[in-house]
Amino acid sequence: MRQSNMLIPTLREEPKEAEIASHRLLLKAGYIRKLASGVYNFLPLGKKVLRKVENIIREEMDHAGAQEIQMPSLQPAELWQTSGRWDTMGLELMRLKDRHDRDFALGATHEEVVTSLIRDEVNSYKKLPLTVYQIQNKYRDERRPRFGLLRGREFLMKDAYSFHQDFESLDEAYTRLYNAYSRIFERCGLNFRAVIADSGAMGGKDTHEFMVLSDVGEDTIAYSDKSDYAANVEMAPVITSYEKKTEEELDLQKVETPGVKTMQEVADLLNHSLAEGMKAITFKVDDKLVLVVTRGDHEINDIKVKNLYEAEIVELASEQETREILGAGFGSLGPINVPEEVEVIADNAVASMVNATCGANEDGYHYANVNPDRDLSISQYADLRFIEEGDLSPDGNGNIQFAKGIEVGHVFKLGTLYADRLGASFLNDQGKSASFVMGCYGIGVSRTLAAVVEQYHDDKGLLWPDSLAPFDLHLLNLNAKKEDHVKIADELYEKLHGLGYDVLYDDRKERAGVKFNDSDLIGVTHRVTLGKRAEEGYVEYKNRKTGFQDDIHISSLAKFLTNQ
Ligand code: ATP
Ligand code: MG
Repeated sequence: MRQSNMLIPTLREEPKEAEIASHRLLLKAGYIRKLASGVYNFLPLGKKVLRKVENIIREEMDHAGAQEIQMPSLQPAELWQTSGRWDTMGLELMRLKDRHDRDFALGATHEEVVTSLIRDEVNSYKKLPLTVYQIQNKYRDERRPRFGLLRGREFLMKDAYSFHQDFESLDEAYTRLYNAYSRIFERCGLNFRAVIADSGAMGGKDTHEFMVLSDVGEDTIAYSDKSDYAANVEMAPVITSYEKKTEEELDLQKVETPGVKTMQEVADLLNHSLAEGMKAITFKVDDKLVLVVTRGDHEINDIKVKNLYEAEIVELASEQETREILGAGFGSLGPINVPEEVEVIADNAVASMVNATCGANEDGYHYANVNPDRDLSISQYADLRFIEEGDLSPDGNGNIQFAKGIEVGHVFKLGTLYADRLGASFLNDQGKSASFVMGCYGIGVSRTLAAVVEQYHDDKGLLWPDSLAPFDLHLLNLNAKKEDHVKIADELYEKLHGLGYDVLYDDRKERAGVKFNDSDLIGVTHRVTLGKRAEEGYVEYKNRKTGFQDDIHISSLAKFLTNQ
C-alpha cells in the first residue's frame, strides 16, 4: 500500500497519558487512537495486526475442531438473571434499557447466551462433543481501565465453549485446546507460561491461565525454583507447617495504643516484630460478616476466603458497619470479644503464635500476650493467606519465586454449573436426561497484541515478529520528488507485490529523516530503501531487528529477500 494514502498518524511527541511501552508506541506509531477511557479505534496498521492475531487464533481453533459462530452482544437481562450473574457481576456488567424499558446487558462474556443456544439446538448425546467459538468485542466496565489495550472496557476477545456428555470428554477437549493455545501464543512469538489458576468455589475443576512474562503484568505468577510448578499467586496453596515457639505463655494484658492505626505502628509501639501481631480484617461474605485473622506479616487472600465459604461475593466490609457490630474502627480490630453473629476464621499460621498482640475491638486499645488456644475462639483454621517468595513450593519441590505476567488466555473446566442454572440438558447414551458438561476458553485478542508489543520493541519503536508485522516489507523511496527515482521505486513496488509480498511503500514527499523515523516507529522488520545508489540500480536492505544492512542490486533483490 502506498503510505501517501494511508492513515498512519505518527506522533513526534510522547503521548503523555501512556505509562507503558505498548500503549505509548501503539499511539505514537499511529496504530490506535483513544475514543474514551478504555475504548479505542484501531487505525489501518492496528487493524492489520489485529487481523493477523485473529487469523492465527482461527487457524488453530479450527484445527482443534472448534466451529466459528457469532453471538449477539446485546443480551436480554433474563438470561443473566437466570444464571444469577445479573447480581454477582455488579458494576462490571454494562447494562442498558430498550424503548420498552426492558433490561439488557452488553456481552461481557457469553456463557449464558451459548448455553441457551445449545440447550435449544442440541438434545442428544449424538451431537456431542461440540465446541463453538467467536471473535467479538466484549464490554466490561472495568474499575480501572488502563495501559491502553491491556485493560479496556471494550476489547476484542476470542471465546470458545465446549459441550460434553461427561467429564472424560471435557478433559479431552481441554487438553486439545490447551495445546492449541500454546501453539497460538508461540506463533505470536510470545514468551509465556501456562499457570494453574483459581477455579472458584463452584463447578470449576481444572483451570489454567496463559501468562505473558512482563514487568507491566498485573498478575503475579508464583513458580518453583526447582520444579515446573507455576500458579497464579491468587490460588497457590500454602503448605508450610508452622512451628510453635517454646516460650512461656504470659498473662493476657490490655494495653493502651492511642492513635495507632497500622500493624507497623502497633509493632513499633509495643516493640515487637510484624510477625508477632495479629491482623484482623472484616469481610462481607454473601452478606455475612466474617472476621479474618492472619499473622501481621502475612496478606489475607480474599479468594481463599471466598472458596472456603463457597461464596458468590466476598468484599471488604465498610468501617462503619464494622464499627456498628464490633465496636471499633479498623485500627483496633481483633479476635477477642467478638459478638456471636460474627464468625472468626484464622490462617493456619495464627494457631502457632505465642504471646502475640491483637486489637481489642475498642478504639485505642490492644491485647498483648494473646495465646490462641487459651484466649481465642476461632471457628476454623484454614489456608487464608497469599503465598510469599521463599515459601515451600506447593508441589513440595523447591521454593517459590515471583514473576509478573499479563493474562492473555484462560481455559476453564466449568462442569455443569451453567447447564444446571439455565436448564440445559440432553438425552445421554443411556436414554436419560443429563446436564451438559461444559468448558470455556478465552483469549484477549487485543490484549495479546499489546502483550506482543511489550516483548517486541526498542527505544525507536515497534519490532514485530514476522508472523504479526502489519506488512512484510517497508519500501522507502528517499527521493520522491525525483521522477527517475519515483519510476524505479514504483516498478520495484509492483515487482515485490507480484512476488507476493505485502509492501508498505513510503512514496511520500517527506525528508529522509522523517521516513526513517516513521519506519522505525512502525516496526516492519525488513526495510528496503531506494536512496543514493538508485541510479546504479542498488537499494539498501536493513533488518530492523538484527541491525544487519547491505546494498543489494535490484536484480538480485528477490532472491536475497527469500533468504531473510
Ligand atoms: P482479568 O483478570 O485480567 O480481568 P479475566 O479473568 O476477567 O481477566 P476472562 O474473563 O477469563 O478474563 O476473559 C478472557 C480473556 O480476555 C482474558 O484472559 C484476557 O486476556 C482478556 N481480557 C479480560 N478482561 C480484559 C480487558 N478488560 N481488556 C482486555 N482484555 C481483557
Ligand atoms: Mg476481569
